[in-house]
Amino acid sequence: MTETTWRTHMCGDARPDHVGETMILAGWCARRRDHGGLVFVDLRDRSGVTQLVINPELAPEAAALAHQVRNEFVLRAEGTLVARTAETVNPNMPTGSVELQVRALEIVSRSTPLPFQLDEENVDETLRLRYRWLDLRRDKLQRNIGLRAQMVGIIRREMEAAGFLDIQTPILFKPTPEGARDFVVPSRLQPGRFYALPQSPQILKQLTMVAGFDRYYQIAVCFRDEDLRADRVQEITQLDVEMSFPDQELLFALMERMYARIWEECLGVQIETPFPRLTFAEADRRFGSDKPDTRFGLELEDATDVTRGSEFGVFANAQAVRFLRVPQELSRADLARLEELAKEWGAKGLAYLVYDEEGEVRSPIAKFLSEDELARFRGDPASTVLFAADTWEATSRVLGALRSHLGDELGLIDDDAFTFLWVTDFPMFERDEEAGRWTAVHHPFTRPVAEWSDRFHDEPANALAHTYDLVVNGNELGGGSFRIHEPEIQAKVFELLGLTEEEQRTKFGFLLDALAMGAPPHGGIALGIDRMVMVLASEPNLRDVIAFPKNQAGADPMSGAPSDVTQEQLDELGIRLTGVASAVRPTAQEPAARITRHDDEAPHVQQPAPVGEPEAPTGPVMSPDDS
Ligand code: ASP
Repeated sequence: MTETTWRTHMCGDARPDHVGETMILAGWCARRRDHGGLVFVDLRDRSGVTQLVINPELAPEAAALAHQVRNEFVLRAEGTLVARTAETVNPNMPTGSVELQVRALEIVSRSTPLPFQLDEENVDETLRLRYRWLDLRRDKLQRNIGLRAQMVGIIRREMEAAGFLDIQTPILFKPTPEGARDFVVPSRLQPGRFYALPQSPQILKQLTMVAGFDRYYQIAVCFRDEDLRADRVQEITQLDVEMSFPDQELLFALMERMYARIWEECLGVQIETPFPRLTFAEADRRFGSDKPDTRFGLELEDATDVTRGSEFGVFANAQAVRFLRVPQELSRADLARLEELAKEWGAKGLAYLVYDEEGEVRSPIAKFLSEDELARFRGDPASTVLFAADTWEATSRVLGALRSHLGDELGLIDDDAFTFLWVTDFPMFERDEEAGRWTAVHHPFTRPVAEWSDRFHDEPANALAHTYDLVVNGNELGGGSFRIHEPEIQAKVFELLGLTEEEQRTKFGFLLDALAMGAPPHGGIALGIDRMVMVLASEPNLRDVIAFPKNQAGADPMSGAPSDVTQEQLDELGIRLTGVASAVRPTAQEPAARITRHDDEAPHVQQPAPVGEPEAPTGPVMSPDDS
């Protein structure tokens, strides 16, 4: 399928067994070296790079043209593939033992001077996003986006082989509760009314089950208006799955098979299935986390019982005393640094026992501890015991975070390992103390586990939900649950979450009606595609697995979105911008001017073209027009 009227091969195809053949290649000039006589061009396309040699004695016209070529010009070259001489072989390039001896060269398309060179490191991210089409030509991004496409292809094949139907659900919809803020879209035909972009197709996929489709999937874009952190974007893509008459074993096995395929086909790595399972309670107890990184040990231990009568008041008075045994004799400086971190995570301090090479203990608290206590903590020579004494939740938070930090810092993590695991049976509700009410830990459509189905409302703090999360190397890939298919139970959950009957009707009336008309038991899962590619590509930057991401302020430096609309549009929508909206809007902020150059040209200053729209907007505050 490579051969077209433009080319006979891809640049990455050039190999010794093609030597002697005529090839026509088309691609971008990655680098040009002009030796006065001979001109060398590295010609790049998605598949790789081939070196072109243009010899003025063999191809005078091509050589004349080659002098004009600059980086990122699009070229088409015809010639004969020849072997390189032994001393010019480049063992670092797959095509490094051959080159194309050019007969005819065509400049298909030119490029203005570049705002950055493609092989330049540490280019400012805003500048990269502003010129994303260039940035995407880099090897790493080509690889990440390619991997993403390959992965989605495998997902579709697996889901379809298992009888799941790809059903598209609407983007303009009603609020769907996944715990974030909604993006709202004003309606021109019904001024003053708004659609919400789905935070997930949760209710819709449940309705496909009520509608008898039995097995649904979709690669769905979900919109969550969140305050952005490094690992969050507002448009997330997920593999969304739902099945009727659900069977947890079938669902887990399907996901495990899918991941095994992805890892095998994309990375050539065998991952072990079935994945281990932990309940939430166990994960929390052993790792202080609901998404534990199990590539290393360093598990939390509990000393609450032995410290009940401790002479060390901090231990005696704490609801829980838990500790980590660190296989290293930490220095005072290490301990001071760890204490700072522990404080950031909410600890009041960090008590410790350090055991030296001889096994002697060094610690300001040792003198308060009984023999029983010391016997329990007794570490190996050259080790350190770190304590958290607080509420159970706080000890989990602090020690869980310390554990991850130390795993990294002490080099306990095998970087080549992928440890997948299921975490199940999360609590059903959690208390929002500020708002003084219960909220759903997963979402309000999640059913309780069988033991709790009749009494979750009596003891919401302890009720467990039929939920599961999939975790790899300490990252949550996604999760799901079995759903409530009984309208009475659903209403009871809504009631517990503080929704009046009227609110239940206006927000979720259609779901309650559907559940009342023959709803099969159903359940499903959603797995983040962006996160999956990050893990697969070992790519720490979420934006580098997305072709056209927004920046951390939710704006697109390339197009300038979000942007202004005309007064006419606002009038049609019945929207008046408040004074506040215009006052707080930042002025357009452009990446600084940069010295740029074609690789062999005199430097000159390139002012990025204006994008006309703010870079870090606090969007307009909309209010339905009441005038
Ligand atoms: N809708 C949920 C989410 O987006 C996943 C699920 O329960 O299937 O997180």
